[in-house]
Formats: sequence, structure tokens, C-alpha cells
Amino acid sequence: MAAKKSTRKFQAEVSRLLHLVVNSLYSNKEIFLRELISNSSDALDKHRIAALQDEKLADEEAPLIRIHADKDSGLLFIEDNGIGMSRDELAQNLGTVAHSGTLKFLEENPSDASLIGQFGVGFYSAFLVADHVTVTSKAAGADEAWTWASDAKESYTLEPAERSGRGTTIALQIGEDHKEFLESFRLRALVKQYSDYVSHPIELHKEHWGQEEAPAEVEWEQANSGSPLWQRPASELDDDQYKEFYRGISHDFVDPMCWSHFTVEGRQLFTGLLYIPGRAPFDLFHSDHRRGVRLFVKNVFILEDAEELVPVWLRFVRGVIDSDDLPLNVSREMLQDSNITRTIRKQIIKKTLDRLGKLAEDSAEDYASFWDTFGAVLKEGLHLDGDSRDRIAPLLRYRSTHGDGWTSLAEYVERMKEDQEAIYYVIGETQAAVSGSPHLEQLAKRGYEVLFMTDAIDEWAIQSLSTFDDKPLVSAMKADLSLDESEEDKAKKEAAEGELEGLVTRISSVLGDSIQEVRLSSRLIDSPACLVVPEGGHHAYLERLLRAQDKEAARSKRILEINPEHTLIRNMNQLHGLEPESDKIAEWIELLYDQVLLTEGSPIEDPNRLARRMTTLLQQASAAELSASS
Ligand code: ADP
Repeated sequence: MAAKKSTRKFQAEVSRLLHLVVNSLYSNKEIFLRELISNSSDALDKHRIAALQDEKLADEEAPLIRIHADKDSGLLFIEDNGIGMSRDELAQNLGTVAHSGTLKFLEENPSDASLIGQFGVGFYSAFLVADHVTVTSKAAGADEAWTWASDAKESYTLEPAERSGRGTTIALQIGEDHKEFLESFRLRALVKQYSDYVSHPIELHKEHWGQEEAPAEVEWEQANSGSPLWQRPASELDDDQYKEFYRGISHDFVDPMCWSHFTVEGRQLFTGLLYIPGRAPFDLFHSDHRRGVRLFVKNVFILEDAEELVPVWLRFVRGVIDSDDLPLNVSREMLQDSNITRTIRKQIIKKTLDRLGKLAEDSAEDYASFWDTFGAVLKEGLHLDGDSRDRIAPLLRYRSTHGDGWTSLAEYVERMKEDQEAIYYVIGETQAAVSGSPHLEQLAKRGYEVLFMTDAIDEWAIQSLSTFDDKPLVSAMKADLSLDESEEDKAKKEAAEGELEGLVTRISSVLGDSIQEVRLSSRLIDSPACLVVPEGGHHAYLERLLRAQDKEAARSKRILEINPEHTLIRNMNQLHGLEPESDKIAEWIELLYDQVLLTEGSPIEDPNRLARRMTTLLQQASAAELSASS
């Protein structure tokens, strides 16, 4: 049975996407050309790699991308002799959207077309400038060719086509308002601007300026330089060239924050060009975020997202690595267990951390902007990579009681008081929550600075570090704070222990299983009580994160510390002495407990009960106030 033309509806997401492309993405429409060239270039790479694995696909045809415009018909053609697509692949690749989240992001950020390439939907950018698009393709090794056609409404058609060799030709019916894209000088400039470093030749019709008559036969001319930027000496390159190259590989229109271009010699030879982006990709914290370093072997593209080369805690790094030692047919499996990979990975870590160190040295402001964007990711390295810990530590920044800006650990140590033996920190959701935390009172009185840790990763990260510059890192919220106490203070505390024994026992019996123990605090000054984390326990913040994922996650019991100097505690103790069984005291103890739970940001069991009790107390206080003033 002869194959016939068929019409198919787009997946609903594609229709929505196309609607956006046609109706809301206005700026940077010219990027369509870069996207289509980049697809052609990928298709050429894929063919080469496929031919390495399957001899039948190998042939003499040199890889090539050709672009030409026909002003009479208003058509622009982009053609390659890459891997091509079968009928099913045309339907699959050009009829669906692969990545979830893509649409939502685009719908929330309309107007800028340059965003589109980031989401693996670059092909659809053809409709930024075209009313109608046909894609004629023949898959390598196949006998038949197919044409996909659409006007970006609800559907597309597929029908058999004629095509001599493998590859793909895209024909764009350029819209009335976009005729500029049929001008060869404009196309030439766009190729130069966006696709100069594409490693395959991109050819345009040769111009015959100033000649009486152009030759009858069309002549082609390469429009891109095609030589890999990273192979050129850094001294010959300027910032604009580095930035443009970055745009080409990242599809990111925001300039990179900085880059590192290096060659490593020695047992292995390779070149790297690594970038720190200027903004975070939308999926930085998604589990399937791809790591953006491309691997080349002797200038030949091997693979995208070489995860094996980049640790997950540097997943924001973009760029290329070009190895002289890996074989051209290297596969992901081979990369996973290779000494060459290990060496390259080590160097990527080293060069990136060195570059960040330099960024910090050159400009605190730029570094702060890096830290705001990617600090939480870099901190994962403390936990995940023991070998790099000491090199990450100087790059850490925290807010602290010292003042507004970021501080490094070295700056903290510099400011440490003479008698101060540890670096202190508090952990919680927000700076507002931790900066007023009762745990800081004694430390503040001594003039000890405290770091605020408010990232979800902080507890894991900082526990892995444990010391900096030989100073232990100590949580102000942990049970064992070991602050030096004067003889006088010790004696005072001992006396208080005797005096408050009754109240302490009562608290233990009222709160029962909710807490591990009750004890007198030496860290409080203004607050009557606080909860501290027992040895081996998690901070409340981390516990909440764990419980958000797993409702059954164990809750570790806290130690309740009471302030022996506080009037409220003293009063309660006295009342307890007068009336040991008083229900009122039991209520106050529960109120106090609800209050300390609130200050550490933990949920309280019965908020209504707390509210009722507060109302009763306020009622009594207001009545007392009235009778005192009458
Ligand atoms: P992306 O290239 O990011 O995957 P696109 O929407 O640009 O997203 O393309 C979708 C898919 O269509 C590509 O992954 C590729 O498989 C296929 N494709 C696009 N253009 C070509 C081409 N010129 N040759 C072969 N396949 C292509």
C-alpha cells in the first residue's frame, strides 16, 4: 500500500507553545536562525557518532550546512546532511514537547524569544518569522524521505517526499513583516554573530559585489570561521568573543559572570573553557538538571552534558572540555570508569574554584552576586566531596550578627574575641527567625559573632566542615555550647539548681515525653527558656524539611533550657513552692513550651489552646492594669 498524506493534531502543549511563539515572543526573533543551525550541527554530530558504531552509515559525504534564500517565493532554506529523521521521528520530535516545566516558564516570562532555546524546543522558533514551515528529511540508512509541514495552527501533515541523500531541509515561508531574513547580508551577519564557532562549515551563496554579471552557476562560500574558540590563545581573544561563544553554547542571553580558559599539560593534555553563568537556570534545583559541559576530543564534538566530568555541586558551570587523550568513539560507559575522566574532573573542580577565588578577590560585589545565585549549590560540595572541602571553605559566605553584608569564615576568625574558641552559628528558615533567636543572648553579651545559616543544605554542609582554621564550628542551638564560665557564675548556677529543683521536676512531669530533659541554661539572658538540640540530633529546620518529605520521619526530642535568672521562672518557682499541684502552673509550663516551639519555627500541637490561654492571660493583665490606674 502506498503511503499517503496524513494530518495529525499537535500535542496540546505544542499548540500552546506555538501560540506563544507566534503571538507573544517579540524581541530577538532573529535567534531562530541560530536555533536551526544548532539543530543541523547536532544532526551532523549524531551522524558521525552513529557511523562510528555502524559501518553501513559511514560514507564519503563531508558534513555541511547550507542556507539560501529565494526572494521570489519568499522561502528560506536551511539544509544539512546530518542524521535526518524518519517519519516517526518527525512526528515525535516536531509534534511534542519533551521537557515538562518548559511551557509554564515561557508563559510566565513572555516576550523574549531568546529564552526558547534553553528549553529544548528550538525548532519551534522557526515560527517566530515564518507563516508556514516544511521539513523534508531522510534518515541515514533509510530509503524513503518524508515531509512534515505546518502553519503552526492545530495540526501538521506528513507525506512521502523525494530527497537524494540523508539529512534535512527546512523551508521557511518568511512572513510579510520579516522579509529582512531573505537578505543575504543579514543572514551572513547572523551566522557570524551567533554561529561563528559551529564546528561544521555553514555555507551561503557567494556574493558577487561590484561585478557586472554574476556567474550562471551558483557558488557557495563558508560564512562561519568554524575554528573552535577554545583552541585559540587567550591573548588573541577579547571579552566579546568569549561572551558570544557562551551565548552559543548556553542559549543564555545574560552575560556570564566570569570564565576560565586553560590548557592542562602533563600526563594528559586537554583544554577547557568554563563559564560561571550570570543567572541561575530555571531548573537548578530540579533533580534532572543537566550539567552543562560539552566534551570534545581533538576538536570533534563527542557529547553534551558530560556529567561524568562535573560534580553535581558544580552543576551550574557551563563550557567545553577538549581532550587529546580520549578515543573518538568514547562512550558514557567508558567515561564512567576512566583515569582520564578522573583527571579532567579534578581539574574542572580546581579551575572553577580557583576562578571563584579570584572573582572574590577582585570584586566582593561580583562575588556576592555569584554567591546569591549559586552559593547554595556550591555548599553541597562540603557534604559530597571530602577532597574539595578545604578548597570550598574559603569561598563560603554567610550573613552574621556582625552586620548586613556577607562574611567569609576568614573574616569571622579575624574578628574573633580573644577568649573565643569557636565559630558560632544558628540554623533556621530566615534571617529574621534566627537573628532574634534566644540562643544568641549569652554569645551576644560576650561580643561573639554568630553566623546565620538559612539554606536548606546548611546543616549537612557545615557538619561536614566541622572546623575552619583549626577553630571548631559550633551551633549555638546545640546542647553542648561549652562556654567558659567564671567561678562566680558556676557557684550561682549550682545554687540555682538547688533552688529550682521543684520547678524543674514539675516541668518534666508536665511536658513528659515531649522533651528529653529540662535543665538550667547558661546561654539565656532576656528570654525565660529555649529548646536546644541534643548531641546527634537535627536542628528544627532540617527536621521540618525531612518531615515535609516523609511524615513518619523521626522527631528528635529537644532539651528544654530555662533561664534561672529570669523573673518569670523565679515567680513560677515560688508559686510552685506555695501550691505544688497547681493547674495554673501546668498551664503556664505548656504555654512556655508552645512559645519556645514558636521561636524555633516548629509547629505547635494545639494552636487553639494556645490562643485561648493567651486570651485569658491578656484579660487578667488588662483587668489588673485597669484596677491599678483607677
Ligand atoms: P532540541 O534540539 O533542543 O532537542 P528542538 O525542538 O530544536 O529541540 O528539536 C527537537 C528534535 O528534533 C531534536 O532533538 C532532534 O532530534 C530533531 N531535529 C531537529 N532538527 C533536526 C535536524 N536538522 N536534523 C535531524 N534532527 C533534527
